[in-house]
Amino acid sequence: MIKNKKYKKHLHLVRRMIFTNRCKLCAKVLPLNEDVCESCSVEKIRVPQQVLQSFSFSNRYFDNLTVPFYYDDPVRKCIHNFKYNSFKRAGEFLADEIINVIQRDFSDEEPDYITCVPMTKSRRLKRGYNQCEILIKHIAKAFNRKSTPDLLKKIRNTRPQVSLNRKERAENLKGAFSVNRKYDIKGKTVLICDDVLTTGSTLGECAKTLKKAGAKRVICVTGALNSKNF
Ligand SMILES: [Zn+2]
Repeated sequence: MIKNKKYKKHLHLVRRMIFTNRCKLCAKVLPLNEDVCESCSVEKIRVPQQVLQSFSFSNRYFDNLTVPFYYDDPVRKCIHNFKYNSFKRAGEFLADEIINVIQRDFSDEEPDYITCVPMTKSRRLKRGYNQCEILIKHIAKAFNRKSTPDLLKKIRNTRPQVSLNRKERAENLKGAFSVNRKYDIKGKTVLICDDVLTTGSTLGECAKTLKKAGAKRVICVTGALNSKNF
């Protein structure tokens, strides 16, 4: 038996991390039977279905889009916790909400491939994993399929999109992606997932790459919509 004080303290901390119940969005500690804390109400920031129906995608290369929330707190916090703090429950929350809007808005769609916006190899190594791969795993299950995270490849590094305007964003991404030759996408429908949709230039460039390689239809889902720029 190990009777080491330090070890016991460590074990106690690990146990607390594993068994503490936290709000799915902001990670605040909660009583065991609660999922979301009082301050994390998301109803006010849901994107209404008629707003989605009013979008035109003709100049963006993709054919359809659905997204559950505007990019505002508490969902902004939730995405941050998922991306940068690897908070698993935040990812599950987002995936469940994305699946709900897919079932509502994409009932006529039949994706052959379910994929996400890729990262470069070096970025992926630095981060450990691409968070969107976790989202598409859940989404693919809802379609009774397997996700295909390596369908698209990012073939060169780009500047962070955050600091750029709409025109610069599109320029920055030109030719940054390619389709993995392992897959035949001719005549196929591809669903791509990203965390946040801002100007649509990332998904647009992915869609352009897929269409050039012969995809028939490209449909997009994201966790949140940064509406000021779309
Ligand atoms: Zn909360």
